Amino acid sequence: MNIVVLVKQVPDTWSERKLRADDKTVDRDAADAVFNEMDEHGVEEALKLKEAHGGEVTVVCMGPERAAETIRKALAMGADKAVHVSDDALRGSCAVGTSAALAAAIGTLDFDIVIAGTEASDARVGAMGAMLAERLGVPQLTAARSVEIDAGTVRIERQLDAGYEVVEADLPVVVSVIEKINEPRYPSFKGIMAAKKKELTTLTLADLGLDAAHVGAAGATSEVVDFAPRPPRAKGQIVTDEGDGGVKLADFLVAEKIV
Ligand SMILES: Cc1cc2nc3c(=O)[nH]c(=O)nc-3n(C[C@H](O)[C@H](O)[C@H](O)COP(=O)(O)OP(=O)(O)OC[C@H]3O[C@@H](n4cnc5c(N)ncnc54)[C@H](O)[C@@H]3O)c2cc1C
Repeated sequence: MNIVVLVKQVPDTWSERKLRADDKTVDRDAADAVFNEMDEHGVEEALKLKEAHGGEVTVVCMGPERAAETIRKALAMGADKAVHVSDDALRGSCAVGTSAALAAAIGTLDFDIVIAGTEASDARVGAMGAMLAERLGVPQLTAARSVEIDAGTVRIERQLDAGYEVVEADLPVVVSVIEKINEPRYPSFKGIMAAKKKELTTLTLADLGLDAAHVGAAGATSEVVDFAPRPPRAKGQIVTDEGDGGVKLADFLVAEKIV
């Protein structure tokens, strides 16, 4: 079974995340770069499927040079090889441009299943799986909290607000996973050492036969036209209890239309 797993390097959610004032894109230099958390669950699920069915796990990542750190971590967890799509002309890509580059890279591989996270913690578009399924001409199963494969059929438990539903599709397929699906393993020392020798192919736009005019800022189909930081929290109102604290509290809740 050929399993492709998508990983993205994102600004650390623990650091202050900002948009750049000049071109209103994510300021990737302002924060530490880390593995998109949901994608660690994607890698774990890919490794579990390989353990159950055999085959190979290939990591695919689009991002600048330093995204190679994230790719190496996925290889250290146990993935077999990686494809890194990297080209200066990709900077500022919208989700449509990102999906064109990722689909072209996946098109260079044989795949039975593509595993993505439900969303990346930076742009939070949450549409990459669907866009890739469309471009690759395969079905997509979303929000998986479990994945099983049996005789060419993939069955998932799909998380809903009030429970879950069971959905299935035939291979090849794109599946997006949620963080509840598993507990990602830590790379072992042996895994970290082995990762250094694993195959990492870097592909440029020219390698993928893509036109720079259709990706990057030049080809973006959407644009951030304005943004504002969330206002700081207003100071709370202090209610002094002089025997009538309950009444004051109730009056406040009524005035705020909370009760
Ligand atoms: C207006 C706008 C401006 C942008 N500007 C920039 C910019 O300046 N610089 C920049 O780098 N990007 C930029 N992007 C692209 C953006 O950061 C995302 O890469 C892209 O929109 C995909 O959205 P997402 O990461 O939220 O995907 P989601 O759909 O939320 O991600 C779902 C899953 O898709 C996979 N995935 C997503 N992106 C990648 C990737 N690149 N490689 C591998 N797997 C991936 C992951 O598994 C992830 O868990 C911009 C996008 C928009 C809409």
